[in-house]
Formats: sequence, C-alpha cells, structure tokens
Amino acid sequence: MSVPTPTDASIILTYRCPMRCRMCNIWQHPTDRNDEIKASDLRSLPRLKFINLTGGEPFVRDDIEEIVEECYRHTKRIVISTSGWYDSKVIELAKRFPDIGIRLSLEGMQAVNDELRGRSGGFEKGFNTLLTLRDMGVKDIGFGCTVSDANSEDMLQLYRLSRVLGLEFATAAYHNSFYFHKEDNMINDPDKVCADFYKLVQLQLKERRPKSWFRAYFNMGLINYVRGNRRLLPCEAGSVNFFIDPHGEVYPCNGMECRYWKASMGNIRSESFDALWSSAQAMRVREQVSRCPKNCWMVGTVSPVMHRHLYKPLRWVVKNKLRSVLNQDPSMACPR
Ligand code: SF4
Repeated sequence: MSVPTPTDASIILTYRCPMRCRMCNIWQHPTDRNDEIKASDLRSLPRLKFINLTGGEPFVRDDIEEIVEECYRHTKRIVISTSGWYDSKVIELAKRFPDIGIRLSLEGMQAVNDELRGRSGGFEKGFNTLLTLRDMGVKDIGFGCTVSDANSEDMLQLYRLSRVLGLEFATAAYHNSFYFHKEDNMINDPDKVCADFYKLVQLQLKERRPKSWFRAYFNMGLINYVRGNRRLLPCEAGSVNFFIDPHGEVYPCNGMECRYWKASMGNIRSESFDALWSSAQAMRVREQVSRCPKNCWMVGTVSPVMHRHLYKPLRWVVKNKLRSVLNQDPSMACPR
C-alpha cells in the first residue's frame, strides 16, 4: 500500500494551562516542562500546508518563538490556538511573525465565557488581545468556540461580534476524547443546540465570502454530528493529517477515546517523521481509523478532507447559497 502524503499537522506543545475549563480537564494533567517536545524534535517534519500549534496553553512555553521559527521551515501557514491569558506574549510573537494566525478560544460573551473557562477576566484579556492584534494589522485572527447547551446562544452573539470586527469565527461541538481527559461531555438539549447551529448556517450563507459558505457546510456537519449521524465525509486522520503530543507521540487525531481505541503511530523523538509515517505501525493505525466508530467532526480532521473531496461540500454550497439568495432555508440533506 502506498504511503499517503499529509498536508496538515497539529502540534500539542504542552498540557500546562492556566484556564480551568468545564469541558476540558487538561489542566489537571499538566506535563513537566522538561519532558515537552522542543523545536529540535520537529526538524524531520515534512513540508505541509498548515500547522496548528495548540495545548494546553501554547504561550506558557518560553521557547514558543523558536518553535514557530522551526515550523515556518515546514509550512507557510501557522495558526496558534490560545486562551489569550498571556496577552503580552501573544503580542510580542505577532510583532516578530506578523503573518501568524491567532485563534482565541472564547466560549461566549463575558459572563458565560468566564464561567465555562473557570477564570474571571479571561474574556476581557482575550478580547483585548484580539483588538490589539487587529490594530497592529495582523490579519489572520479570530475566535474559536466550543458549543454546548450552556453557550449555543452566546455562540451566535460571538459570531455577530466577529462579523462587526472582521474576525474569523471557528466552531466545535462539545465532545469527549483522551486529549481532554473527558468522558462525560454531553449535549443534553440537541434540538436547541442544533437550532442555534442552523441559525449560524443561515447567517453564514448570507455572507459574501465563499469561505463563510464552506464554514456553513462545516456547521451543517456539526448538526449532523450532534444528531449522532454518520459523518458527511470519510475520516482520513493519520493519512492527510496528524497530531503530535507534548511527549512526541504522533497520533492520527485528538478525538480518540480509550474506551474505543487509542494508538500512536510512533514517536518523533526516537525516529524520523518519514520512518514513523511509513512504518507498519502507522499502517495498522490507518486501518483502525477506517473502522473508528466515533464519527467526530472537528476542524483539524475535517478541513483537510474538505479540501481533498471538494466536490461534496461544493455541491452543498452551490445549492444552498442559491436557496439563501432566494430566501429559502438551507437544506438539511448533505451529500455523502
Ligand atoms: S472519527 Fe476520525 S477523528 Fe474521530 S476519533 Fe475516529 S479516527 Fe479520530
């Protein structure tokens, strides 16, 4: 079997985090800073289209500039997911790398965000950081929101705020994974959450930017996920994308749960990326991905397959943009 070429990577730089989120227990399982992967561990990465740096909180790392510098040797586009808690470090990094992407994780407006993320002042710090970046002329900035019963209405407010300010807006649905150390994240009122996602889809289809229409398709996929249906596109985790954890383990995704399965493709500290990516173990993991029962729908594993199978989202977008222009509601039927 031929070895696939990956396009996207997510690198989890640390499990240390100053936030105390309700939907994520990473902060209860911090890594030892001396055990975390270094820039030098990333030297064998291949050429990629996109790298996401995430955590924990990536900005707890004192060597984040060195890591970003190394990542730019492998890709033109880097986006860092952050709480914005270390505001001055975010701003310093953006001064040095003005093309960097920054996504602030905000779970709602001030009261809801600070409640869900467990730190008062989190919204203000995050929001002010984004405004400062915007004033500095940093273009690739926006919010990321993980949606549950507790914040689906706030999601719509955050979306409107992002449009007024000209910021990107990314979404995820509440889910469980080994990564979050969570098995009890549950959406109790799927009708309400799906209705709010549906409003978001309608608003995004009204926009002029094609990127927003494809985001509408992604959010339609989230409705499909919350409803417990089969995913709209095949999962190709471990073929088109990979995740590296703070100890250097390379995983196909961050959605696995130990109660189903969890397997590493190898460790980037003990062999080169090419060697582990073409190993028998990597092939076994791809086999497991093809049988994975989870059907999750997360941007890290969906975005690369949306690009690879573009005709499917494109068909949905053309049909539903037209419906939107004619003031008709988007169709819930998505081609598989
Ligand atoms: S469906 Fe894909 S992304 Fe989700 S846990 Fe399974 S292999 Fe990972």
